[in-house]
Amino acid sequence: MAHLPLDDRGYPLPWFVAKVNGKPDPRVMDARKRILAIATGCCWVCGRGIAPDRAVFVIGPMCLVNRVSAEPPSHRECAEYSVRACPFLSRPHAKRRENDLPGTLADGPGFAIARNPGVSVLYETTGSEVVPDGRGDVLLRLFAPTSLSFWREGRTATREEILSSIESGLPLLESQCDDCDGNRIEDLRRAYAQAVALLPAEGGAA
Ligand SMILES: [Zn+2]
Repeated sequence: MAHLPLDDRGYPLPWFVAKVNGKPDPRVMDARKRILAIATGCCWVCGRGIAPDRAVFVIGPMCLVNRVSAEPPSHRECAEYSVRACPFLSRPHAKRRENDLPGTLADGPGFAIARNPGVSVLYETTGSEVVPDGRGDVLLRLFAPTSLSFWREGRTATREEILSSIESGLPLLESQCDDCDGNRIEDLRRAYAQAVALLPAEGGAA
């Protein structure tokens, strides 16, 4: 990441950051870079190539249930840097400034980062496939994880913190199932049980 430009505080500016009114805005991801990273397999944080079977996704715990990510993966070093140093990921209670955010996804130079789930998961996998999101965009469906670690406020998250983060997001996933038949609800419950089985034991070690 040594090649990245620095922000006002002297921290490296991630590669994905979009420019808003000519100035990099770390709250906004560049939509074109997202497509570029998905197409070329470069790292979301530093912009350099990643071995495809060593990709590490930084996802919210909910994505452990449905195994999809909107964000491309990173190098392990870059992903760990993000969960330790990115104010948004490492300080979940920090109030994000919402002023001057570009309006809609289509109008702006990128898309605003979604609500902070409190816990971040580093999900290493041997690959992913591009799938339609049903709204004209694409998501990445992740292959089975080869390694997982769970982070909160720059440290290892506890099992309780991970569980409460997953459970707070479950109603959202269920609401997407409102018009689903019983089979889809069953699939969701199975996926939830599968995700919970991957969590670290009590005490927090992943
Ligand atoms: Zn990187």
